Amino acid sequence: MHVYNLNPADFTPVIGQYLAERQKLTGKSVLLFRMGDFYEAFFDDAELLARELEITLTARPENNYPGGRLPMAGVPAKAVKPYIQKLLEKNYKVYVAEQMADPKTCKGLVPREIAKVYTPGTINELEFLESYRNNFILAIYADKKQENFGLAYTDISTGEFYVSEIKEKFLTQELARIQAAEVLIPAKKAKKQSGQIAAEEELLFDINCKNISAYAKENFDLDLARQNISSVFEIKSVDALIKDSLEGCQGLALIAAGAIIEYLKETHAIDFADKISKSFDVIKTYNVSEYMLLDAVTRNNLELSKTLAGASQGSFFSVIDRSASKPGRRRLAAWLEQPLYDLAHIQARQDAVEELFQDASLSMQLHELLQQSYDIDRLSSRLASGLISPRELNSLKRSLEIVLEISLLLQSVQSGLITSLKAIPQAVPDFIRQVEDAVVMDPPLNITEGSVINPHYHAELQEIVSLVEDSQAWLNNFQEQERSKLDIKNLKVAFNKVHGYFIETSRINQAKLPENYIIKQTMVNTVRAITSELKDFEEKITNSEARRNALEYKLYDDLRKKLAQDAALIKQIGMHMAELDALLSMSLLAREKNYTRPVLDKSQDLVINDARHPVVEAGLKLGQFVPNDICLEATEAPIMLLTGPNMAGKSTFMRQNALIILLAQIGSFVPASSARIGLCDRIFTRIGASDDIATGRSTFMVEMEEVATILNGASPRSFVILDEIGRGTSTYDGVAIAWSILEFLAKEIKPRVVFATHYHELAGLEHVFSCIKNYQVLVSEENGSIGFLHKVVEGSADRSYGIEVAKLAGLPNSVLQRARAINNQLQANKSKKLGFSKKQIDQQGVKDAISDDGSLEIDKLPLFQN
Ligand code: ATP
Repeated sequence: MHVYNLNPADFTPVIGQYLAERQKLTGKSVLLFRMGDFYEAFFDDAELLARELEITLTARPENNYPGGRLPMAGVPAKAVKPYIQKLLEKNYKVYVAEQMADPKTCKGLVPREIAKVYTPGTINELEFLESYRNNFILAIYADKKQENFGLAYTDISTGEFYVSEIKEKFLTQELARIQAAEVLIPAKKAKKQSGQIAAEEELLFDINCKNISAYAKENFDLDLARQNISSVFEIKSVDALIKDSLEGCQGLALIAAGAIIEYLKETHAIDFADKISKSFDVIKTYNVSEYMLLDAVTRNNLELSKTLAGASQGSFFSVIDRSASKPGRRRLAAWLEQPLYDLAHIQARQDAVEELFQDASLSMQLHELLQQSYDIDRLSSRLASGLISPRELNSLKRSLEIVLEISLLLQSVQSGLITSLKAIPQAVPDFIRQVEDAVVMDPPLNITEGSVINPHYHAELQEIVSLVEDSQAWLNNFQEQERSKLDIKNLKVAFNKVHGYFIETSRINQAKLPENYIIKQTMVNTVRAITSELKDFEEKITNSEARRNALEYKLYDDLRKKLAQDAALIKQIGMHMAELDALLSMSLLAREKNYTRPVLDKSQDLVINDARHPVVEAGLKLGQFVPNDICLEATEAPIMLLTGPNMAGKSTFMRQNALIILLAQIGSFVPASSARIGLCDRIFTRIGASDDIATGRSTFMVEMEEVATILNGASPRSFVILDEIGRGTSTYDGVAIAWSILEFLAKEIKPRVVFATHYHELAGLEHVFSCIKNYQVLVSEENGSIGFLHKVVEGSADRSYGIEVAKLAGLPNSVLQRARAINNQLQANKSKKLGFSKKQIDQQGVKDAISDDGSLEIDKLPLFQN
């Protein structure tokens, strides 16, 4: 029975109350409803919880429910967090309704309200978050025609907040880059069916993205946005700040940012104003034109953060990462996802990497120190929001001590990007001293149970602690005194939770006990008693402990409030530390793997000598990887047509050049002996065969869509790699498509291209277009077996050696023999049916097919003549 169709008034008051709250939820959500020591769920949600969390499904009597037993499932309130985490992992939004009054003192039904909502993008519990990844929530708002989009995204655990405004064509690649845990899209309520409460929302626009949360369109509002942004970031001229720094800004970014803040206010209903909102510091604007663009396909093909199989291990990032700290790793990953398109910025990073690269001893010392530092980004957010625990405060203090040590080491560095840590404001040592003075070395997890603050930190605390500490001496003394007074040797003072302090002795001594001894318990062999003196002492001690705990809590809370004033400064330092770590990682990699500093310029050339593939090389023994050159010059031949046998190394070669450009544009050194790279605006890849059954697209359709994206998006500044275009259809269709694509690139765009193919017929185009040049990957052939040399040289291959490679793969002999026979037959007819020889090109054939404007007329080509 669906909860939306039930009337709360038909049920017992508490279930009516549950239903009223539950009916506020939409989408894939569950409500955890606090009842005493448990969070409960009822109706369908109970079954869902039982299933998803593998907990017991029970029932409670409920007259108006069919069968009289209402399904119910619950989890203990004290241990609720792992359950919430499990639900979030399964993409549920978890609403938590709390008891808003103390059930002991409250008359009648305890009021309950939704006090917190856990959603994948708004959690800030460190235990729920992956330490090496940002956890972004993103909001998108579109103009009426859906041509321009405002984006805003934030990670509340680090306080980063970014906004931008982009054209529709950049949307999917931005989504692929940001990889938000949750995406807010404006929605309106779906039409009600008669008599029902609408449970579903209808998105105002649809985008191809997982983790979408529909969010009421009223929250995407300019005035609301201005209010929200100015109150959170404490800025008056919101419009000026955002609009002035965003190209062609129409205010869409503002609206998206406002909606995120509104959403955070709702999901953190209790904590937002005092805590969460404090972790935000600055709102950063960015324009996509400042960065190289990478679409989702290219990110996947180059396996930037995940392999094609979806694993992080083995990805490009995992191979180049040498960072020491979590924030450093997040920063490096973000840089890789967003390479720069600005020479000065790239060179500034290169300078820093080079300086660190030159000083091996400095690098090692910095690396070791950074390894010991904690997550300053997240800890400073916890500090800002007043949530920091004593243990976290100690971790932050330790990290700041490391900052001071690092600062000393950096005194003689020159590069702008690392000089910011040279001068550390006095507030930092002051911060360290205050924490050291106040907080004990190893504080407990719970801050209400005392033992957090050093006794000498506060006179009253010192007094109470001395009292508690002296109590043992008092007890010993009291015990001694009573023993000798009553002459009972086995009299002792003990403590338990039920009776508190008591005096215990054997039954045979009971007669010796004087009148002021009040017997509390008589057992077979022993008797327990109390005296007013002992009870006075107990009261004093108990009071002292309660006083101590309350005082320590207050002192701690005052301290963290005071220290929170330094949160923005510490966040800034944390940012520099993360950057230092990312730059250091690049320098360590460069030294370890013998990388060189590339020269970046404004040309459209790509000239790399002895280039290596960072990932393939890492999987081979030292010296086994065969380096290769590439020379694509705009004024010469920027398009490389690459032929060669299967398994020769074409894909490796193509990818390695793309990866080298990427590395260069994040400021890194590159695996080559030298490199000169004209700044690339985009890298495009079309590699491999994959279908997308989910969206009903066949392998060939996917391939053609990807090529269409390239031909529509590439500029002369782009780098394009195309692997075996046209393979997914018939040979003639495939050749014709590959041919015309290559021709289009050569005539219309002239980007830098590596075009690998087994259609050897295309090699003739080198004679038609001066911008195309043929290259091949060499193999050796002896007694019918081939050896892979992996060397790229000028010229074109005339065979693919497919059958030889198939033999290596273990195809049955009979199949190989038959394949050879068929191949021989086809080869015999080839000159008539396929391709053209050098002689034909020189004499007639291709030349005849070239029209006055220089284009090829396909039907006049020898390829299509019988
Ligand atoms: P196909 O046409 O069948 O797709 P391919 O020419 O694209 O093959 P690759 O996939 O690039 O071949 O390379 C095949 C294997 O050869 C790689 O997995 C790698 O182990 C090895 N290899 C490629 N290039 C090199 C190189 N330069 N040095 C050493 N080994 C290499």
